[in-house]
Amino acid sequence: MNLVLMGLPGAGKGTQAERIVDKYDIPHISTGDMFRAAMKEETELGLKAKSFIDKGELVPDEVTIGIVRERLGKNDCAKGFLLDGFPRTVAQAEALEDILKSLEKKLDYVVNISVDKGILMERLTGRRICKSCGATYHLVFNPPAQEGICDKCGGELYQRADDNEETVANRLEVNLNQSEPLLAFYDEKGYLRNIDGQKDINVVFEDIDRLLGGLGE
Ligand SMILES: [Zn+2]
Repeated sequence: MNLVLMGLPGAGKGTQAERIVDKYDIPHISTGDMFRAAMKEETELGLKAKSFIDKGELVPDEVTIGIVRERLGKNDCAKGFLLDGFPRTVAQAEALEDILKSLEKKLDYVVNISVDKGILMERLTGRRICKSCGATYHLVFNPPAQEGICDKCGGELYQRADDNEETVANRLEVNLNQSEPLLAFYDEKGYLRNIDGQKDINVVFEDIDRLLGGLGE
């Protein structure tokens, strides 16, 4: 099965990706891993990507797309793949269609784990860290026994700057703006399947599993 997995930060994409690749025995192809592998193997495209990354510049689309093409052509993708973090734009999605066509493959589903923005805010801003021992808590999912105090060492809990409301809201906004046209593109192609990511993690996976189970082998 050939899948693209989508979801905003905090939607639980990482957890579901792990479970999908585990159960269906397909490679998890995240953009980061793919770049690292191409750079490590020193492929022509990997070296090209490295030259941009070393300069602190964005890797141009043609290089990224070339790396995706190489990766999807490898043997371990014969049974399928789970793409995660690519495509990010409609132009990349169109390039992916071309790549798949040239490999005589096509997407089965674009699975989008959908979670209300308010709930994402709650999930993403709730983390608290102990100043003394580094233990992490979450105000909703894993709260300390006493507010603001570490269970393990009695240290003071704080919120990282990355986790504050404004930063998180901005990050979500950027991601939302980026994903909307992509979701519309895949909806029109008929690939898009929205999964309710607000349920319990296990139930979310059951829903995905039921969808994918319908694909057969
Ligand atoms: Zn502590």
